[in-house]
Amino acid sequence: MRDVIYITSLELHKSLDNIEKIRHRSYLVDALIQAYELDKHNHFHSIQPQLATDNELASAHDRDYLDFLNFISNIDPNHEQLYKEQMDFYKIGYECPSFEQLPSFCKWIGGASITAARYLTRSNNNIAINFFGGWHHAKRSEASGFCYINDIVMAINELRKTFDRICYIDLDLHHGDGLQEAFYCSSKVLIVSLHKYETGFFPINSGGLDEIGETWGRGFNINVPLHHGIDDDQYLSLFMRLLPKINSSFQPEVFVVQCGADTLFGDPMKSFNLTTKCIIKCIEQIINLNKPTLLLGGGGYNIADTARLWTSIIGICLNETLDNDIPEHDYFSYYGPDFTLETWPGNRTNKNSQKYIDSLLDYIERNQIDIMKNQICQ
Ligand SMILES: [Zn+2]
Repeated sequence: MRDVIYITSLELHKSLDNIEKIRHRSYLVDALIQAYELDKHNHFHSIQPQLATDNELASAHDRDYLDFLNFISNIDPNHEQLYKEQMDFYKIGYECPSFEQLPSFCKWIGGASITAARYLTRSNNNIAINFFGGWHHAKRSEASGFCYINDIVMAINELRKTFDRICYIDLDLHHGDGLQEAFYCSSKVLIVSLHKYETGFFPINSGGLDEIGETWGRGFNINVPLHHGIDDDQYLSLFMRLLPKINSSFQPEVFVVQCGADTLFGDPMKSFNLTTKCIIKCIEQIINLNKPTLLLGGGGYNIADTARLWTSIIGICLNETLDNDIPEHDYFSYYGPDFTLETWPGNRTNKNSQKYIDSLLDYIERNQIDIMKNQICQ
């Protein structure tokens, strides 16, 4: 049985309180894990994170960007207009407003994913989880889509000190553009992102099938652009066909998975028709490959559904069957009217034909899997 290392602390909860879109979410997740008594399991280890150092933050971001985050967080909001030009340059404002605790937010969130990654480098074949992390949109010197720092890039950089080949899988509804940017020229970090890809959908003009990587990284960036309304059967069959090909051609030593929950039918993004069952099966498939695995959070704006998914993922990691009736606890009222753990499938129009799904897999097979196979075998 593999150990599950779970990163949590009061400082992390308080840090996430600053992000309006997901306020209270982290409390729900921890409370549901406790309601199912998963935290009492012999193989579940709750760990406090360490703060990221300036150098660790700088492994994913330019120093001038980090300096500006520190600077702007000290400016009275009434005087921010004086720095509008720089704020626009670093994309601070709108979705990513400045706030006083921004520097400590960055250090705690980044530090939590690095702490999780470090556990995987020290001990054999464990599963480490930081559901407070997974901020996949942040770029080297740009905030984006509620993300100020890219803790995932930092965690992968930490893992690279020990592991030669890392496979990152992004299950969030949105394209993992920050990861694509960071490792576009690398053959050591395979980036795989399954996401909604439609005109005008965020991140705009990013995540196309033909963005396959450049120079040394050519072939090592796999985008799976999906249309509105994909259902469990299609998503799962696609994933089950893709994962073994990736595993055998790239032969990763470790997996990093962003478990964004905004693909679920009940999410306010109103895009896919997926249930928790589908995503859990995808994660189970990765876990069954028996390699060190880092699981991260991500999107998920129906906070009860997100807590349902992430608690169920821990259940799978610990090989525990969870009662579908949610136990009574402090946040019980959030789970009405059904008070069940599983979520319902949606009935949105599915704009993905089977022919389209097959064409995606054909493209990846022809253009990327073969390149990887040849390069890894050399
Ligand atoms: Zn998302």
